Amino acid sequence: NYRCRSAFKLLEIDDKYKLLKPGFNVIDCGAAPGAWSQIAVHRVNSTGANGEFPRGTVVGIDLLRIAPLDGAHFLSNHDITDPVTHAKLLELLPGAQAHVIMSDMAPNASGFKEMDHEKLITMSLSLIDLAAKVLQTGGSLICKYWDGALAHQLQQKLSAVFRDVRTVKPKASRKESSELFFLARSYRENKIV
Ligand code: SAM
Repeated sequence: NYRCRSAFKLLEIDDKYKLLKPGFNVIDCGAAPGAWSQIAVHRVNSTGANGEFPRGTVVGIDLLRIAPLDGAHFLSNHDITDPVTHAKLLELLPGAQAHVIMSDMAPNASGFKEMDHEKLITMSLSLIDLAAKVLQTGGSLICKYWDGALAHQLQQKLSAVFRDVRTVKPKASRKESSELFFLARSYRENKIV
């Protein structure tokens, strides 16, 4: 049982692109109520349920409170754009490194499409700073955005540091919504400390 229907979007993306592997360290940005983290816990084996595979780590962050989940560390009431949050993440991740950053973050919708779009793009740009601190070379990023005028800016910035950037629209995402995901793979930046 998943905590939220958004689970089906990640399942679809990960079934196709196989980003989450046993032993991986994953950061889940905008994790509440926790469905994406549930999937990550299972796929990276962070509870160690499967003794034959390496054990991964899942860290979820949200402005809201996230109810505890076996196999996940949650930073509730934390803002992903805040460098203080980044520092805490570095401490929680084994080797201070992540293999995957995923973001289903969304600002509270104001009802003004352009404004919401801009807000989400600005938040997503901060994921590139986070990547510079924690993402290991070869790592990947999944990032939700709402389509609009600034989407190409985010895409360009991602393309500067990832070898392969593409747009994904899962079937589970409502057709009439402007919701899309960037899937960025093969991170090529060396870690900036
Ligand atoms: N993927 C989640 C799941 O499967 O349960 C659902 C995520 S929900 C669509 C978006 C979340 O992003 C909200 O809970 C919201 O509080 C969070 N959020 C928005 N801005 C944020 C920020 N700056 N830092 C952390 N979380 C944020």
